[in-house]
Amino acid sequence: MFDGLSRSLEKAWDTVRKDGKLSADNIKEPMREIRRALLEADVSLPVVRRFVKKVEEAALGERVVKGLSPDQKLVKVVYEELKSLMGGQQAELVQPKYGPSVILMAGLQGTGKTTAAGKLALYLKKQGLKVLLVATDVYRPAAIDQLVTLGRKIDVPVFELGTQVAPPEIARQGLELAKRDEFDAVIVDTAGRLQIDERLMGELRETKDMVKPTDTLLVVDAMTGQEAAALVKAFADAVDITGAVLTKMDGDSRGGAALSIKEVSGRPIKFVGTGEKMEALEPFYPERMASRILGMGDVVSLVEKAEDAIQADEAAELTKKMMTAKFDFNDFLKQYKMVTGMGNLSSLVKMLPGMNKVNEKQVNEVERKYAQYESMIQSMNKKEREAPELLAKSPSRRRRVAMGSGRTEEEVQELIAMFTSMRMQMQTMSRMMALSGGGQGMA
Ligand code: GDP
Ligand code: MG
Repeated sequence: MFDGLSRSLEKAWDTVRKDGKLSADNIKEPMREIRRALLEADVSLPVVRRFVKKVEEAALGERVVKGLSPDQKLVKVVYEELKSLMGGQQAELVQPKYGPSVILMAGLQGTGKTTAAGKLALYLKKQGLKVLLVATDVYRPAAIDQLVTLGRKIDVPVFELGTQVAPPEIARQGLELAKRDEFDAVIVDTAGRLQIDERLMGELRETKDMVKPTDTLLVVDAMTGQEAAALVKAFADAVDITGAVLTKMDGDSRGGAALSIKEVSGRPIKFVGTGEKMEALEPFYPERMASRILGMGDVVSLVEKAEDAIQADEAAELTKKMMTAKFDFNDFLKQYKMVTGMGNLSSLVKMLPGMNKVNEKQVNEVERKYAQYESMIQSMNKKEREAPELLAKSPSRRRRVAMGSGRTEEEVQELIAMFTSMRMQMQTMSRMMALSGGGQGMA
């Protein structure tokens, strides 16, 4: 996604770097590149025009920031404008003043509404909320089954009344049940159509009037590209959405929809869907998206992903160990398993800064390396795993581990060196954290 943009900015850097400062003249070429890249990414033309104009104004108007070279400054301006184009800050769900949150899912057929309803239910459930799903897509019996199946999978109850009751009435009864049984959140899945028509909007409005949702989320397929702009506008005008869920971001969409939604509707993207699994939903962070577009990688989402995959108690224990010198080879293996448990390594590596361009071969290389580490660690005895110094000191131990794992002694030595330096870094980090945290803990 947006490969074109990172490439064009590299070019922009070169052009501007030579001149020493930003001028109307030397930003012409980079601006043309940015414009082209955005159009290629399927951002709608009016949005591109407004964006480019804003970047130009900001680039020329801003006083030179000390310490930033002109090319860096241009990138920063583009970054800031991208961020603000997408709403600036992460937009949370609306909190109800009283009673449960009511979230109405809207959108065309096949965009991923039902899937997103399930994902959102799981997401809120993980936050400790008691969630109810409500099935109002009465036009296709399979749609109700789909939601019921999803609900069962994530262990969230689904309220349904079959296909013979009108959607607004189903929603009303669902909400009534939720209030009575003190649910914290109700997610209403609705029917979609292949295109916008008055019947769809009318029914949606009726359901909306009936349950007065705290959030009406428009589900938009990222593959929609430029057309997303018109679609979002139509829904925003007709039912007054509070935000959007951008689905199928894992596909090979060009990503243009992400940049258009806020601009045309005034409403932010609140979540993105990144796969078919129920876990594949993330809050949308404009700053991360902006840096991803610019090819800076995304450390923060990586950290979050890691946190989620790691069982809380195990994580706490590991952290404690990392902070002390007690981190050993057993922990190293555990940590490695957690990382690989988070999904495939290649998607993970791509989120690291500077790693966007990592190719499959390099990722395989890393995976292979770690598999070797694992086999070497498995050839260590209990004592050695717990006290890595033993191996550092003893060539005969290293030889034995090498023999046992079918690796060379050099490779064993390399593992020990890598491990030792990693542990040292951890200790330095923990000391720094302790210093900056002072007596008030680490927050
Ligand atoms: P609805 O008609 O709007 O309710 O759409 P569904 O929720 O039934 O989804 C339509 C199809 O898109 C299904 O096959 C889903 O598995 C798929 N889908 C939904 N969200 C995502 C996503 O984020 N990524 C991918 N790859 N597929 C998705
Ligand atoms: Mg559906």
